[in-house]
Amino acid sequence: MNQSADLKLATVPAWINGRAVVPPGRMGNVFNPATGQVTKQVPYCDAAAVDAAVKAAAAALPEWRDAPILRRARVMQKYLQLLQANQKEIAQLITAEHGKTLPDAMGSVQRGIEVVEFACGIPQLLKGEYSENVGTAVDTHTVRQPVGVCAGITPFNFPAMVPMWMFPMAIACGNTFILKPSEKVPSASIRMAELFKEAGLPDGVFNVVHGDKAAVEAILAHPGIAAVSFVGSTPIAKSIYEACARHGKRVQALGGAKNHAVVLPDADLEFAADALIGAGYGSAGERCMAVSAVVAVGAAADPLLALLKKKAQAIKVGPGDQDGVDMGPLVTAEHRDKVASFITQGKKEGATPVLDGSTPPVKDGYFLGATLFDHVKPGMQVYKNEIFGPVLSVLRVNTLDEAIALVNANPYANGAAIFTESGGAARRFENEVQVGMVGINVPIPVPVAFYSFGGWKNSLFGDLHVHGMEGVKFYTRTKVVTTRWPHQDTPAPGLNMPTLG
Ligand code: NAD
Repeated sequence: MNQSADLKLATVPAWINGRAVVPPGRMGNVFNPATGQVTKQVPYCDAAAVDAAVKAAAAALPEWRDAPILRRARVMQKYLQLLQANQKEIAQLITAEHGKTLPDAMGSVQRGIEVVEFACGIPQLLKGEYSENVGTAVDTHTVRQPVGVCAGITPFNFPAMVPMWMFPMAIACGNTFILKPSEKVPSASIRMAELFKEAGLPDGVFNVVHGDKAAVEAILAHPGIAAVSFVGSTPIAKSIYEACARHGKRVQALGGAKNHAVVLPDADLEFAADALIGAGYGSAGERCMAVSAVVAVGAAADPLLALLKKKAQAIKVGPGDQDGVDMGPLVTAEHRDKVASFITQGKKEGATPVLDGSTPPVKDGYFLGATLFDHVKPGMQVYKNEIFGPVLSVLRVNTLDEAIALVNANPYANGAAIFTESGGAARRFENEVQVGMVGINVPIPVPVAFYSFGGWKNSLFGDLHVHGMEGVKFYTRTKVVTTRWPHQDTPAPGLNMPTLG
């Protein structure tokens, strides 16, 4: 058993320069949300620990950025195999700390592994451009070079997938990386680091520091970090974006969401209801692409409500590691209480509670049942806020125009879906809706790894989405090289602006 395996029993270590370490200082508790018990401790890294990680990453950078691109790709290929072989173990760590069901955790790890699969093609992805004779005997080419030491700060709800949106792309591009995962779910990141070392990644290329605001602030202020990827809630995303701008760092900061699904009367309502139950209550609603607002158009509303009620009532709530369970607990007691307070508020504001899940269906742990509200209005808190729990709100409108206007008036803009059999209506929706990701009869349109993931408006601060080609662009800088060789019978440029023609 190696050092990190020993430590993992009681303490989730940080990972600096290729080994498990427990920096001195504050410690935090890690809980099993299905029982409410403390299961592990995690060090909350301070500026000194962050500095040690940056030093390791900076020292590893020159050799890694100049490593032959095929060598980098082969490390990714080996990593891909190891992740596949250990997918279940990583998923079990996630279920034990986040609470989501094991099959759901397996699916999320798979979506992360697919980014590693995409990153294996890095030799093709990093190809530049070349133009011969942009002037007489003058050629121009571009190269994509790594930006340097990069950092990733990630949320609790996808302990493996969201980090894997970032670090495989950054590292394949030739950067070194420091991950600051959510302190609520720290274990998966350390297992991913161990496997990367086993795949042949040189020490210092991938580092993990744990902690809260103090660790994040140390990352933002550190002059040795060139780029920051963040995923989390909107207020923190905005503050990260602003801090990075102040510190002169490249940044992409993905925020919260309020995802709508518009259901037209011509939709296959049974199909739509099944899709909405999965999208609303899967992972107890703790997904950035969860559907939390259903916009029922005209005659779709009554039959859709009846179907949603019947299907939501059948959801089996329990510990995520038990067979046959559909929905696990919320991540913490505080979050469970916050979601419950939104249910209370929704009732006070006049929304109709078709199903009220605020009484915990399981005694221990941080459970809530499925809640379904009808007649929700845009002014209500239950609509305006990202609840991030198993609460599905139905809003009723008369036309597709009204539905699109409602979606577009929302400040969040991650994803939106439409359920219809009409190609014309779907095309209009796709064209007019102001969000980053659109689903047509697909409730959670999370793009596959070779496309890019990201929202608009308050769901993303920055210019580039994650993974896909936008990920390659974020983690590289373009250099444009113009070349002329002497003795080609062309004169050297004089004092006037050369036009090269
Ligand atoms: P969060 O914003 O509370 O935390 C995210 C990260 O920021 C964590 O690593 C946390 O330690 C750190 N952090 C927390 N408070 C901080 C502070 N004051 N200063 C600096 N850093 C701080 O988010 P969360 O509760 O872990 O995750 C849920 C949120 O993430 C939801 O809003 C969800 O929509 C969002 N999310 C968005 C996407 C997306 O793709 N847009 C994906 C997943 C989750």
